Amino acid sequence: MIKKRFWIVLFACMPLWAWGNDSVDNVRVWPSPDKTRVVFDLSDTPDYSYFTLYQQKPYRLVIDFNNTSLKADLKNLGEDSLLVNKIRTSTPKDKRSTRIVIELDSKSDANLFTLPANDSYKDRLVVDLPGKSVERSGPAMSVAELEDRKVTIAIDAGHGGDDPGSIGPRGTYEKNVVIRIARALAKLINDDPGMQAYLIRTSDYYVGLNERPQKAWEANADFFVSIHADAFHEPEPRGGSVWVLSKRRADSEIGRWLENREQQSELLGGASAILKENGHEPYLAETLLDMSMDSSIAGAYSAAKHIIDEMSDVTKMHKRTPQAASFAVLKSPDKPSLLVETGFISNPREEQLLTSNAHQQKLARALYNGIRRYFVSNPIDNTYLANQSHFTYTVKSGDSLSVLAQRYNTTVKAIKSENELASNTLKIGQKLTIPSR
Ligand SMILES: [Zn+2]
Repeated sequence: MIKKRFWIVLFACMPLWAWGNDSVDNVRVWPSPDKTRVVFDLSDTPDYSYFTLYQQKPYRLVIDFNNTSLKADLKNLGEDSLLVNKIRTSTPKDKRSTRIVIELDSKSDANLFTLPANDSYKDRLVVDLPGKSVERSGPAMSVAELEDRKVTIAIDAGHGGDDPGSIGPRGTYEKNVVIRIARALAKLINDDPGMQAYLIRTSDYYVGLNERPQKAWEANADFFVSIHADAFHEPEPRGGSVWVLSKRRADSEIGRWLENREQQSELLGGASAILKENGHEPYLAETLLDMSMDSSIAGAYSAAKHIIDEMSDVTKMHKRTPQAASFAVLKSPDKPSLLVETGFISNPREEQLLTSNAHQQKLARALYNGIRRYFVSNPIDNTYLANQSHFTYTVKSGDSLSVLAQRYNTTVKAIKSENELASNTLKIGQKLTIPSR
């Protein structure tokens, strides 16, 4: 109501050329490995039409916003995308509209849809442009038959792009914290001769919840870990937790709330994502799942225990046993999949910790240690970790024999005898042979 009256006043005192009652206030570009998403933030519901000019280069997608002015700066947009070369204006079809041209490197079957304003965003026009948009950072697909192969760990940094995840009291976005932890974890894994990392998202873009495990299967991953930071509607809760899939409904209040929250964030991912993914749901949910779900849940549960054990050395734990909930992202039928809440971003103290690089590194190392312990105690045939009865470890700051023994499921005695050590003192840089089983 207020808006309408205000508009009438404007109408009376504005010159004819300013009739456009909508405006493009901001434009955002999110490249991901298989598409680029361009989001136009508008002050009101977008009134638009579009066409393509694909007969000759440069390939162009032309969008006309009717009764709309342009307030956004289009400079340098698309720099990070291999697909979008440039976003610019062109002569509008009439004085009250704005014409925007997206120049493309290759023809793309664009999908345009609108999203209504919500608490975090204005009205939006979303343009999804399928096509290779960033270099893939994943490993060369590992071949299962390969002798001594590395195990592939799919690392899923939660949220991304349009979906910030939870937001801390100081404005920290969950998506930004978790991508840093994910990258640090990937580095530790790639430094391990028996493991390689596959990042589901490599930078700040959104990947649908069902698409995430899908990507992990395509990369032949042996393990899937989704990294998040928790939030609650009260500031007090703090600490980490590790979640595995449950086919039953989560019975704790926090569990229910988390499930809801993950569903809400899927809504932020856009109408097209929901439509597409619901199409797969019946197929995903039924027989396929049941067949191998039990063993992968058992694997996830055991890995979760190792991870909780490691995490409790570096952070407070909100839950000291693995929790169960039915997150879409965990519905991978045949590999252990788990979701780690690294702490509560809604707790002011923990929000501060989660933004610290040192703490992010510690969390990453705890996840790495836990995952490694899992693969050492549950070896997969023909993997480096299974065939390796020993491996060489370089002593780092903070290590001790008892820490190493616990981490690698062995004993102080076994390490000492293997390395003919007379004392318990270790030197940084010292090479130790660790009997891994
Ligand atoms: Zn999350």
